[in-house]
Amino acid sequence: MERVIPTLLKWYKITARNLPWRETNDPYKIWISEIILQQTRVVQGLGYYNRFVLAFPNIQALANASEQEILKSWQGLGYYARARNMHKAAKLILSAHSGVFPTNVEMLLALPGIGNYTASAIASFAYGLPEPAIDGNVKRVGARFFGLYEPIHTSQFYTQLHAVLRVAIVQTNANIFNQAMIEVGALLCLPKQPKCEECPLNSHCVAFLNKLQNQIPVVVQKQKPMAKYRHYLCLHRGDTVAIRIRNESGIYQHLYEFPAVSREDKLDHLEAILALFGIVDNISIISKKTFKHQLTHQTIYATCWYLRISDDKFVSPSDWEWHNKESIANLPIHRLMEKMIKFT
Ligand code: SF4
Repeated sequence: MERVIPTLLKWYKITARNLPWRETNDPYKIWISEIILQQTRVVQGLGYYNRFVLAFPNIQALANASEQEILKSWQGLGYYARARNMHKAAKLILSAHSGVFPTNVEMLLALPGIGNYTASAIASFAYGLPEPAIDGNVKRVGARFFGLYEPIHTSQFYTQLHAVLRVAIVQTNANIFNQAMIEVGALLCLPKQPKCEECPLNSHCVAFLNKLQNQIPVVVQKQKPMAKYRHYLCLHRGDTVAIRIRNESGIYQHLYEFPAVSREDKLDHLEAILALFGIVDNISIISKKTFKHQLTHQTIYATCWYLRISDDKFVSPSDWEWHNKESIANLPIHRLMEKMIKFT
């Protein structure tokens, strides 16, 4: 790989996209950008990044914010565990490291929500440490360039790739090398029809030289997402609707949503669903809508029942809150809830 490093770095200098987190060596801002980009495309993540660092400009601001404020800023990005973990990590940095961002991979890995890739990215981008940052893009580039046939999701593959990249990275500028490898994966070494003719690595790329781009990387088929059925009650009373914070652990923890029940089956009788909430009388149906919401590991089929209750004596469960549209707008809600609330 040493032979192609000068070409790679030169190509990066000319081609690199101008992104705000590339113009800083502040580990806090680099961390924020890396967490946002874990499950989000750069175009979408850019606006969130700018707003997030404006609202929480440093570790202290993030650690001292309330979880609800952070979740509200995160709203729409999905995978809310990322935001909750960032909050926990910020508090930990404040309490255990006196507010100073950890400076090596081992300490970074001890923080909630930071895995191998993010730790290496922060270590190399902020401190110039020779740590290969191996994300999905770099895995694909590395597998093809070195001709690695281990399935790309295995730890054996990771160990092999890490070892060969480590030999290369110690010989150059670690920050630029990692950024350049990521950029090759994002712009040229695409999963289908990679743009090999334009690639700065092509003179030594095993896959290109042997026409193996369609066979490497080796990807083992993932399981199909599981189907989940969920019934939501958008229950109107006067000009308010019932809403509750979701305290159960899971991807939507600490976000607000309509009262809901999960089912393994498609139970679709309103009376049966209402009975689960202890609601029997004085209900009128406004409408019913179904939503298909795709997550990585599951497909949620959500049915939202838009209802009105005219029973003044109805005592709602203690965790329900009654909000009008204006006050709901200030609460953190998930994407599926955003879709459902549009019809209230
Ligand atoms: S030459 Fe082609 S296959 Fe090899 S790293 Fe570049 S884009 Fe990927």
